[in-house]
Amino acid sequence: MTTEINPLLDFSDLPRFDLIRPEHVRPAVESLIADGRALIARLTAETTPATWSDFAGALADGLEPVGRAWGVVGHLHAVNDVPAWREAYNEMLPEVSRFYTELSQNLALFDKFRALKASPECATLSRERKKVVDNEIRDFRLGGAELPEDQKPRFQEIMEEMSQLSAKFSENLLDATNAFAEIVSDEALLAGLPDDVREAARLGAEKAGSAGWKLTLHHPSYGPVMQYADSRDLRARMYRAYATRAAEFADGSSKPEWDNAPVMQRILELREEEARMLGFANFAEVSLQPKMADTPAQVLAFLHEMAARARPFAERDIAELKAFARDEPGIADFQPWDAAYVSEKLLQARYAFSDQDVKQYFTEPKVVAGLFGVIESLFTVSVKPDSAPAWDDDVRFYRIETPAGDLVGQFYMDLYARETKRGGAWMDIARTRRRTAAGIETPVAYLNCNFARPVGERDGQTLPATFTHDEVITLFHEAGHGLHHLLTRGEELGVSGLHGVEWDAVELPSQFMENYCWEWEVLQGMTAHVDTGAPLPRELFDKMLAARNFQSGMMMLRQIEFALFDMRLHCEFDPKGASTVMELLAEVRREVAVLIPPEWHRFPHSFSHIFGGGYGAGYYSYKWAEVLSADAYAAFEEAGDPFDATVGKRFLDEILAMGGARPAIESFTAFRGREPKVDALLRHSGMIAA
Ligand SMILES: [Zn+2]
Repeated sequence: MTTEINPLLDFSDLPRFDLIRPEHVRPAVESLIADGRALIARLTAETTPATWSDFAGALADGLEPVGRAWGVVGHLHAVNDVPAWREAYNEMLPEVSRFYTELSQNLALFDKFRALKASPECATLSRERKKVVDNEIRDFRLGGAELPEDQKPRFQEIMEEMSQLSAKFSENLLDATNAFAEIVSDEALLAGLPDDVREAARLGAEKAGSAGWKLTLHHPSYGPVMQYADSRDLRARMYRAYATRAAEFADGSSKPEWDNAPVMQRILELREEEARMLGFANFAEVSLQPKMADTPAQVLAFLHEMAARARPFAERDIAELKAFARDEPGIADFQPWDAAYVSEKLLQARYAFSDQDVKQYFTEPKVVAGLFGVIESLFTVSVKPDSAPAWDDDVRFYRIETPAGDLVGQFYMDLYARETKRGGAWMDIARTRRRTAAGIETPVAYLNCNFARPVGERDGQTLPATFTHDEVITLFHEAGHGLHHLLTRGEELGVSGLHGVEWDAVELPSQFMENYCWEWEVLQGMTAHVDTGAPLPRELFDKMLAARNFQSGMMMLRQIEFALFDMRLHCEFDPKGASTVMELLAEVRREVAVLIPPEWHRFPHSFSHIFGGGYGAGYYSYKWAEVLSADAYAAFEEAGDPFDATVGKRFLDEILAMGGARPAIESFTAFRGREPKVDALLRHSGMIAA
C-alpha cells in the first residue's frame, strides 16, 4: 500500500511521464472506470434532468479523465513497448474495451440524449453542443439502439458474427501468405535483387534450416522481387502465388480451407441484413452516415468522373511502359508480372537520381526549423521550445503561442526509431481543447516518427540526422494532423479538434501540409547539405518534380478501380443473386483498368481494407480527401503565394479552428467559397496543363 497519489490520476497539467510506471496502470484505470460507471448510473437516473449541464456536459467532463489516462497508457505502449508496459497495457485493454462497449450500448443514455434533443433547451444550445447531441444520437441509432426489442438480439448476433468473419478473413490471408516459400538454390536466379534483399533471403533460408535463399509473399521480399528480379519466370511464379492467396485453388499458396470467397459472401449478406434492419437500402448508405459524402450515387459519380479524366493519362502510361518493355528488356508480350519490373527500369532510365543524394540536403535542424517556419507564416503563431517530462531523452517539447504570447497548444516531437517503438509515423492526442469551470484547457499532441537518429561524426562532433524527402513529407503530414488538433477553437470535447471530424475529411489538413514540401522557396530555406551547407540545387529539385508524377494516371486508375468495386459491392451487388463478386470486379475493370490481370487473379480475396478492416464502402475516402486537400491548396496557388495571409487566415478560421463543430462540407465551402472540385488534384498529378 502506498499513500502517494497515483501519477496517472494527476490531471492538473501535462502527463507525469517522469513518475508514471507500469504498476500505476491497473489501480488508476480501475478507479477511473469505477468512477465512470458510477457517473453513468447517476446521470441516467430518472431524477437527473436531461439538460446540457446536468447530463450531456456532465457526461463529457466526467468521462474525460478515463480517456485521457488511457491515452497516456496507449501512447507509452506505442513508444516504449518494453515487456512491463506491454503487459500493463494488455492487462487492462479488455476492461477498457468492455467499458466503452457498455457505454455505446447503454440505452438509458440514448433516451436522455433524445430527451435533451426534444427539449426546448436544445434550440438554445451552441452549435458545438447541438452537434455533440446529434452525433451521439446518430451513433446510438447506427448501433441498433432504436430497433424494436424483439429485433435487438438478431442485430447483436449479426455484429458478433461480422467481427468473427473479419478476423477470419485476415487470418486466412495471413495463413496463405505465410504458407508460401520459394527456396532458390541457384544464385543466378536472384540477379537484379538488391544486396540487402538477398541477405535477408539467405538468412530466411538459414532460419528455415535450408541452404540457398528463401523468398516469401511478405512485402519486404515480394515487393523487391517484382520490382528488381531479372528472372521473368521467378516473377511470374511469385505473382501467381501472391494473386491467388486465400483463393479456391490448391496450388501455390492456397489451401481450400483458407478460401475467403465464402467469408466475403457471408460478410456481404450480413452487412445487407444490418442495413435493412436499420432502415437503409444498402450497406453503403449505413457506411456514409458518419461521413462527408452524402449518398452512394454521389461517390459513384465522383469516382466515374475521376476515372474518365485520368484514363487518357493512364493509357499513355501503359503504352509508354509496353513500348519501353519491348525496346529495353526485350519483352514483347507484356504481362502483369512485368509491370513493376519494367516501371523501375523506365524510372531509372528517365529520371535517374538517388534518394541518398537528396537525403544529404535534408538535415534535421533545417527541416524542423523549416516546418515551424511554414506553420508560423501560414497561421500567424510562433512555435517555441518548451520543457516537460517525457518518455525518452530524444523527445523534444514545443509550445505554440499567439503573437501576444498566449498559449495555444503544446506538442511532443519524438522523431527517431527505437526498438521499443511501433513502426510508421502518427499523431496522437494527449489532451483536447475544451472549456472547463476553470477556463480553457489547451490542447496537447504527440508527433511520432521513425526516422534514423544522427549517426555520422566529424571532428568529434555528431553530424545532424538526415531525412529522405519522403520522410520530410511524412513529418509535414503528421504536423498537419497535429495542427488540426492544436489550432482548434473548440470548447466541447466531442467536437473539438479532430473529434467528430468526418472520416473521409480528416486527411485534409495533413495532405494539405505536404504541398509545402514541393515548394521551391520552402525547400531552399529548409535544406543544407550535411557536408557543404549548400541548399538543394535546382537541377536535383527539377528531377524530383519530374519523377513525382511518374505513372500517376495508372496509379490513380488503380485506386479508383478498388474504390468503385468497393462501393458497387456495397450498394448494388446482391450477395444472394446469380452474379459473383469476381464478375462485378471484371465489370469494373472493363470500365477503368488499363492493365487487366489474368482470369485467375483473386484480388477481392485479399482486399483486407474492406473485409478485414473498417473501410467497407469507404475506400473512396483516400481519393476524396486528396481532392479536398489539393483544392484547398489551390486557393493559395490562385492567390499567387503559398503563404498568402488572407487565405491562410481563412484556412485557419474555417477549417482548422472549426474541427468537428460543423459538417466538413460546410467548413470547406466556407473556406473555398464553393464546393470542392477535382481539377486541382488532376493538375497536381500532372493530368491537366498547369
Ligand atoms: Zn494521415
